[in-house]
Amino acid sequence: MIVSIDTNSGFCFGVTRAIKAAESELQNGALYCLGDIVHNGQEVARLEMKGLATIDYDDLRTLPSHSRVLLRAHGEPPSTYWIAQQRGIEIIDATCPVVKKLQDRIRACYEQHRNDENLPPQIVIYGQPGHAEVIGLQGQTNNTAIVIENTDQLDRLNFNRPIYLFSQTTKSVEGFQNLVEAINSSIINHKSSIVPEVHDTICRSVANRVKELQAFARANDIVIFVGGAKSSNARVLYKNCVEVNPNTIFISSPDELENFKSKIINHKSTNPDLQVGICGATSTPLWLMEAVRDKIINEQ
Ligand code: SF4
Repeated sequence: MIVSIDTNSGFCFGVTRAIKAAESELQNGALYCLGDIVHNGQEVARLEMKGLATIDYDDLRTLPSHSRVLLRAHGEPPSTYWIAQQRGIEIIDATCPVVKKLQDRIRACYEQHRNDENLPPQIVIYGQPGHAEVIGLQGQTNNTAIVIENTDQLDRLNFNRPIYLFSQTTKSVEGFQNLVEAINSSIINHKSSIVPEVHDTICRSVANRVKELQAFARANDIVIFVGGAKSSNARVLYKNCVEVNPNTIFISSPDELENFKSKIINHKSTNPDLQVGICGATSTPLWLMEAVRDKIINEQ
């Protein structure tokens, strides 16, 4: 049996940068992180062992002044900065520069069009409602942006008003293109003459992974996708693997391999040269994929 790890899997630039910032700032004393620093329980636990304390918005409102709070790669709405300022909290801003740029673009669009029709501009975000990055993006529009997750939700749009479309950075390019096509069809069906302003703001550090990941999944007999249960990027990339290799297993930790042991043994009994590929999301640490690999090798 050959077991290999996908060299293109693992933390993206933004997450790596936020974790480095946390590790460096922890050397200067107590540090809080607003929300999980990454959608991966094991990595959160590793940093908590080093002293990082994960807090929520309620905690933020009660922290003593001069506390130091790290903002993760997903970014935050303006209200978070305002609360911190009111409470005298020091912000260590590890928002990914790609997300920051997107926030700025959405805010600029909102400011430019906020007085156009005596109505908030119809800013549409293709994204997952309630996702931390999306909350940060909505905040740039005074929470007036409409979040659309799929084409079934288009009845929430007014096709006779201008549409400004953006995307959460981790959504799929294909899903975004489908949405654009569906919006254009709806405009025609409504006999409207508007031309939507389309901003493809999907992060290529994620989007470009799909092809490489699918090539890796195809090249292996069994694929073990390691990802956090809370990670939307993990769900998207896992689906991409399943599309090309139905023998793809999703696990969050090496312990969960137990549930699939018989499946791996069955495959091995019919194919002694079985190739097992381990891959993960942008939030999956390399050390976790290595732990999965070691468990498979040690237990075969
Ligand atoms: S996926 Fe892209 S935009 Fe999102 S944190 Fe990673 S590098 Fe930044």
